[in-house]
Amino acid sequence: AVSVRDLHKRYGDVEVLRGVDLEVAAGETVCVIGRSGSGKSTLLKCMNLLESPTAGEIRLGGDLITGPGVDVDAVRTRVGMVFQHFNLFPHLSVLRNVTVALRKVRGMAKEAADAVAMTQLERLGLAGLAHSRSSQLSGGQQQRVAIARALAMEPEVMLFDEATSALDPELVKDVLDVMRLLAESGMTMIAVTHEIGFAREVADRVIFMDEGRIAESGPARRTLEAPETARLREFLARVL
Ligand code: ATP
Ligand code: MG
Repeated sequence: AVSVRDLHKRYGDVEVLRGVDLEVAAGETVCVIGRSGSGKSTLLKCMNLLESPTAGEIRLGGDLITGPGVDVDAVRTRVGMVFQHFNLFPHLSVLRNVTVALRKVRGMAKEAADAVAMTQLERLGLAGLAHSRSSQLSGGQQQRVAIARALAMEPEVMLFDEATSALDPELVKDVLDVMRLLAESGMTMIAVTHEIGFAREVADRVIFMDEGRIAESGPARRTLEAPETARLREFLARVL
């Protein structure tokens, strides 16, 4: 479903992505791990065009999304992204947060948008909070609303960038459970995470980024339990 070829990203003199190749099949869950500054967030941002690559190409369902003439808004509806900080509109209800894009980007009528939003909120165990102000929710609930908001657009791929890193420890599990559920439901997912246990249990594949390249990748369990490169061994020794 996603194909990245020889992706490069440069900020001034600094090359942050130095030739990334990655194929993610439909329904696959890939976890991305690596040191701070290795380019994990930049890779995800290129995939939904929050950043434009310096060179290389990205395809989504076969469609080239890098290069001239691409409809950025259309790509963003196909690629859902959830960040560390959930960026909900604090003064709006949970329901409104989920329907904003459906109405503004999809042009859906209020009733139809509400119905789609409620379906997603129910799925994530949030229906009872639909009419609460989002600022009144816990961080874990807010993050699940952010996931519901992305899912409401029926994306082909979901990108998660350290979705649990800003949460209190007791709230992390709720969000990881939702991500696990999504993975099991067949969603195509690419998740940058520090949760090595989650990666081992849920990911089909783990990718280790190092200095702007994929230094190692393979089946989750094998890669995490028996890393082939010294760099990944060192990394895991530090985080586990
Ligand atoms: P972390 O684990 O800390 O989130 P990361 O692997 O996600 O790190 P990136 O955020 O992709 O790393 O950043 C990779 C490198 O690119 C870093 O050295 C960072 O300082 C640099 N960088 C990222 N965004 C910009 C930008 N907008 N302008 C200049 N440099 C940037
Ligand atoms: Mg990052």
